Amino acid sequence: MGQQKDFFKQPYAYAFTEKGWFCFRMEGKLFDSLALESVTGADLVNFAFLDAELFSRCLTELFTIWSIAKARGKSDDFIADALVQHVEGIVKRNTYVFLFLLSYIEFLLDGEIDPRVFRGTSRADNLRIREAAGERTDDVPETTKSGLIDVFSRCYEDKRARTEKVLKVMWEENADDGRTPLERYYRLEQEDEAFRKHWGSRFTSELGTRNARSAEVVQLTVLETIDDMLRFEMLHFLTEGKSYKFCKNCGKPFIPRGRSDAVYCDRVADGEEKTCKQIGAYRAEKEKTATVPAWKVYRQAYQRLNKRVELGYMEESAFTDWNREATEKRGRCLRGELPYEDFADWINRTSRQR
Ligand SMILES: [Zn+2]
Repeated sequence: MGQQKDFFKQPYAYAFTEKGWFCFRMEGKLFDSLALESVTGADLVNFAFLDAELFSRCLTELFTIWSIAKARGKSDDFIADALVQHVEGIVKRNTYVFLFLLSYIEFLLDGEIDPRVFRGTSRADNLRIREAAGERTDDVPETTKSGLIDVFSRCYEDKRARTEKVLKVMWEENADDGRTPLERYYRLEQEDEAFRKHWGSRFTSELGTRNARSAEVVQLTVLETIDDMLRFEMLHFLTEGKSYKFCKNCGKPFIPRGRSDAVYCDRVADGEEKTCKQIGAYRAEKEKTATVPAWKVYRQAYQRLNKRVELGYMEESAFTDWNREATEKRGRCLRGELPYEDFADWINRTSRQR
């Protein structure tokens, strides 16, 4: 146990940025060495605007897997693998959520709470964490492990909400003060003690290798806690002056990862199963299938009637009237206000019987 406590005294991670990428490495109990990188700001912004339920839902799932495996007498290695496997998909979706979950998995396995990740947000929660830490590590009762889910969730939510708040201040509030987001950040750091405490720009750095397998030496910033990681990425995100967009589906900000013309974020919006990007792709497909036949049926009718005018079977003015009405209906059909069937029906009725 003494060894474990020392483990938590080490810095949580080391990070550097490179050509707009945020790279970090860390040592954990489950991974000897973990190195991850992503577009600077993308995960940070996603973390701030994620579905509020995602995290506590994942904790409950992990706890269920753990207690079932435990009851069936599975080995520790088996249980560890099953838990990590369960959250592996999350790492692709969000680094921060993944790291919080990883820390919870470590707690399920050995009963130790990593203070670099989880700190109570109230006196009562701190007490519960201390109580859990005081219990013998190998057999922390199940009730403690499940009971702490809400303590951990509150801790996670506190960090998420704080990140969201900082981003909103940087982007939205006093937007006409003529300051850049970085200048606003600097001003808050100067004037607001609470802000300085959580989001100050002071870091220590040292030289180290890029990752465990590389010999290349880079300047690494020391990140003592997961909060450090959040503020380090925030600072670089602002220094690099990265722009953000509002997602066309959920309306919340995001940083495009790949294509700069992306209009949807890759978060799963509240109460949805799919990401905004997947929903967007589905919607675009649907729009296309509605658009194509609407134009086609209109164009055919237009050519048909135009021919009649040329041949003298139809008055020019009647054709103009028809076209005006057809165009108006076509617009409503493309906007989804008029069902395609009704539109096609009207087109056929008015363009064929003359
Ligand atoms: Zn979205």
